[in-house]
Amino acid sequence: MSDRRLKDATLQAEILVRDESLALPIDVLALAKSRDILVEAKPSTEKGVSGMLLRVGDDFAIGYATHIKSIGFQRFSIAHELGHYFLGHTDAMFRDCKTAHESQAGFGSKELIELEADHFAAGLLMPSELFKEEAAMHCDGLAAIERVAEKCQTSITSSAIRYAQLTDAAVAIIVSSKSSVDYCFASQALRAVKGYRHPVKGSVLPRDSLTRDFNQTASNIARGERSDDLTDLCTWFRADDEIEASEEVIGLGDYGRTLTIITADLPDEDESGTEWTAPRFR
Ligand SMILES: [Zn+2]
Repeated sequence: MSDRRLKDATLQAEILVRDESLALPIDVLALAKSRDILVEAKPSTEKGVSGMLLRVGDDFAIGYATHIKSIGFQRFSIAHELGHYFLGHTDAMFRDCKTAHESQAGFGSKELIELEADHFAAGLLMPSELFKEEAAMHCDGLAAIERVAEKCQTSITSSAIRYAQLTDAAVAIIVSSKSSVDYCFASQALRAVKGYRHPVKGSVLPRDSLTRDFNQTASNIARGERSDDLTDLCTWFRADDEIEASEEVIGLGDYGRTLTIITADLPDEDESGTEWTAPRFR
């Protein structure tokens, strides 16, 4: 049930992009202005608050936090608040004379309306059609993610998550710190690989992986260093067969975590009995 509502939230944003013929990067400020919504940067006092939606009489205003300097994060925060507006959350939010709603954007909340607004934001800033079109112009993996992030003006992490959702290639993105996995998203093609086991939150990074090695040096993360190597799907996902893959690693700076992208070149003939077929991106 909630899954469907989250998908619908993304879809609603994508329909808005299509109906208003918006282009990348989506101009969230112009979109707000077109609905007479005032948008203002607000130095946030409370940690964890990414932005807020305010009701002033019949009008709405958005305040977004600036404690995280990333333009991508700030745009996501504004898009999240627009989500509350376009998804019709405002009646419930501003019941009982309430005039402000504080948000925690970025998929960290457990509340359904917060998650719905996050999914709307992802669909608005990274609408599937335009996103796929752009990604198809670049090599699978980190190259595509970075170019799309640039084009959409979104953070590398949110672009990577969206990429794993939308690509036809066999790709996983893993966010980690020290020796453990914070979270992992794998594309449909990768999840269909025989024997695939999903790395769960808190699980230990593969012992011989480049990522685990990379994470032992704090400055790699702080300075946004990058590295790449060959790996295989047995190492990362306990796949039944040894399938070669690339492992690309990049330090996420202030975020204090590492982003890993595993991209496998699946054999053309699929012997796993699943329905995975080409075409892939590019
Ligand atoms: Zn919110």
